[in-house]
Amino acid sequence: VETSTVTVVDPATGEERGSYPEHGPAQIEAALAAADAAFRDWRRWPVAERAALLSGVARVLRERADDLAQLITTEMGKPLSESRFEVEKCASACEHFAEAGPATLADETIDAAPGRSIVTYEPIGVIYAVMPWNFPLWQVTRFAGPALLAGNTALLKHAPNVSGTALALADVFTAAGAPEGVFTSLIVAPPNVPQVSADLIADPRVAAVTLTGSERAGAFVAAEAGRALKKSVLELGGSDPFVVLADADLDVAVQHAVKGRLMCAGQTCIAPKRFLIDATVVDEFERRLVDALEAVRIGDGREEGTQLGPLARLDILETLERQVAATVEEGAQLKTGGRRLDRPGFFFPPTVLSGVKPGMTAFTDETFGPVVAITPFADEEEAIELANDTRYGLGATVWSTDTERAHAVARRIESGAVSVNTLVASDPRLPFGGIKRSGYGRELAAVGAREFTNIRTYKIA
Ligand code: NAP
Repeated sequence: VETSTVTVVDPATGEERGSYPEHGPAQIEAALAAADAAFRDWRRWPVAERAALLSGVARVLRERADDLAQLITTEMGKPLSESRFEVEKCASACEHFAEAGPATLADETIDAAPGRSIVTYEPIGVIYAVMPWNFPLWQVTRFAGPALLAGNTALLKHAPNVSGTALALADVFTAAGAPEGVFTSLIVAPPNVPQVSADLIADPRVAAVTLTGSERAGAFVAAEAGRALKKSVLELGGSDPFVVLADADLDVAVQHAVKGRLMCAGQTCIAPKRFLIDATVVDEFERRLVDALEAVRIGDGREEGTQLGPLARLDILETLERQVAATVEEGAQLKTGGRRLDRPGFFFPPTVLSGVKPGMTAFTDETFGPVVAITPFADEEEAIELANDTRYGLGATVWSTDTERAHAVARRIESGAVSVNTLVASDPRLPFGGIKRSGYGRELAAVGAREFTNIRTYKIA
């Protein structure tokens, strides 16, 4: 394997911002050996002491919040206010894991004679984690907090464009008192990622793998895990429906459509992407939405007041531009946006496509950027059919002033999460994950805390 450096490009300017030497085979072997050695000791720590480490991580995250937020914005472009929010979300989640986590991992006595029956949640070892750049701290924290609390150790392979954030997070764990090997960030150049990942997954010292990212990467990692007969958890893409019934409060729906679709410049797995609107209100919804989107302030995420930053990478911009053009060619109408902005950096304006039908590109494929695809429906049956006409199943929302009716519609939509009159968001207290090609397994809440444990049965007669 030839090693090289990983460069980070500032998406607001297109200029190089940092360069990180790749970890070569010897360094990866040393990191794996350290993670394995650390596991043997870490798993014996009382859970309260492991919880104390997470409280420490929360404290260090808050102490370093300004620097971390600057780093996130510089590396992947989102507005500073969103980066600050992300750092605080990680800190409060770590506090939550520290407080509520130990109870979810406690031994359970079960009434199953003869003798005493006990179920325990025991750690399994080194977990290899492959993570994306869109929420570079949160995606990692959401996995690592519960996994470490359970007594596992973690080897992180983050996305190359957030290498600085990946190393800064490892430093946060160290500063909070994590023993060497408990949490390590590996820097791997993209051409070497498949081989390094396959080797790590096959190594007997690695117990399981978790990946948040695309279907392609998920399928690769899952195949390697299958070959090695190891557990995998996958959080993949989504094309969430946003279903507006005729009796919805349109102000509320439009306001949340804007917020949901523009957060992180639309590069969010659980963003609403297909807007299914009752035909009797679709024109009004569209008019209000276009007005709201055209008023959005686009700019460098470091400037106060910026609401929409650049996309994270040039190839993401190119893919999005191609998807919009294809959808127009297939017969949809472009109401606003549609082409990259004529300025340095990877800026793409809020874009609205109306008259989108099943089979068109923006309906079939995930759009990872600020693109709204609007499809009208005639009745609830058609709304449900359209909502489920996708290979994905991550989140969904239903908007209506009749919450019982909306709840009934929500029940018939296929997804890992569904919300009525509010956006889908990941919350440490609630399970998070998908069905269909959005992945499998769950993060967060009690089920998430137990994903990387040996759920073990004891019988004492
Ligand atoms: P991506 O290419 O899959 O990258 C995600 C991570 O996977 C990166 O660290 C990447 O490293 C790695 N990777 C890629 N190919 C791999 C392979 N063969 N083996 C091992 N690792 C590999 O995804 P992206 O296009 O940057 O991100 C957008 C996608 O992620 C979207 O589909 C989005 O919906 C999904 N996503 C899902 C969630 C969720 O929670 N469900 C959250 C965020 C994003 P390299 O870049 O070095 O290849």
